[in-house]
Amino acid sequence: MSVIYKRVALIGLGLIASSMAHGMRRGGLSEHIVGTARSQKTRDIAREIGLCDVVVDSAAKAVQDADLVVLAIPIGAMAAVAREIGPHLKAGATVTDVGSVKRAVIEAVEPHIPDDVHFIPGHPLAGTEHSGPRSGFAELFDNRWCLLVPPADTQPEALAQLKDFWHGLGSNVDTMEADHHDLVLAVTSHAPHLIAYTMVGVADDLSRVTGSEVVNFSAAGFRDFTRIAASDPTMWRDVFLTNKDATLEILGRFTEELFALQRAIRTGDGDHLHKYFTRTRAIRRGIIEAGQDTDEPDFGRSTVKK
Ligand code: NAP
Repeated sequence: MSVIYKRVALIGLGLIASSMAHGMRRGGLSEHIVGTARSQKTRDIAREIGLCDVVVDSAAKAVQDADLVVLAIPIGAMAAVAREIGPHLKAGATVTDVGSVKRAVIEAVEPHIPDDVHFIPGHPLAGTEHSGPRSGFAELFDNRWCLLVPPADTQPEALAQLKDFWHGLGSNVDTMEADHHDLVLAVTSHAPHLIAYTMVGVADDLSRVTGSEVVNFSAAGFRDFTRIAASDPTMWRDVFLTNKDATLEILGRFTEELFALQRAIRTGDGDHLHKYFTRTRAIRRGIIEAGQDTDEPDFGRSTVKK
């Protein structure tokens, strides 16, 4: 792989940015990586582990001379950071982001981007429940999708370059319109996270009655919910505050289906339950066939305690 952007600025040095830094090094995608984060502590850790070629103390400083600027910060922080970097961006540079919601990021960032800078929002569909500069790894994006949301007037060369960059990080790349992205993600990610948070909250309330049974006898279903419900609280607060309409639409449909299943249980309608579960099982098969998860039992977890 050859260099795609000479100088890359990572604004925010958490899971996504640190994985990008490792991935860029693995693929030789850039000559120089500059990073910055909000807190001194994160910047110090990044320096200590050699995450970037240089770590600077402000976003304004980081973007100077950068060919690609990546906003890898919570969605709620995008507007203030965009305002800060706007006047310091190099003509011809590309600004992108990795935020999990796209319409809100566009509204927050676009007004601060000068006319001679390309702004192409993006969202890698890859993550873990871990956060911070030590949590990243080069393989995070391998065979995962990265969705780019280019505005209608995006220069084709700038878009092609960003696509090459994500391919270099191991991703498959597709483009999508912002509102469509937000609806798709409400179904595939945002509503499922809210449901997991709720289920773990309910179990936690219950555990006050049943002691430690919820933890000790945690079977696969609940355990998988707890992994999702351990995701970063700031990130997920911002997702629900900024993808309000799509999430509420999907939760409304979810509630209707839940009531229908509840009624089937109450009335002993086994046929309804069996048909429903047969349909949903086929979805899992589709995900495996698309190479987006493993076919191994229990997600390939080892049952042997290390
Ligand atoms: P993270 O590990 O929590 O890191 C967030 C980074 O943003 C930290 O370096 C933090 O600095 C910095 N930051 C926070 N507030 C800031 C502010 N006001 N100004 C400047 N920097 C600030 O988060 P992440 O998981 O990498 O997520 C980053 C973005 O990626 C989010 O927009 C999220 O929606 C998106 N995303 C996440 C996932 C996922 O699964 N985690 C997947 C896809 C996309 P300090 O450490 O100094 O506070």
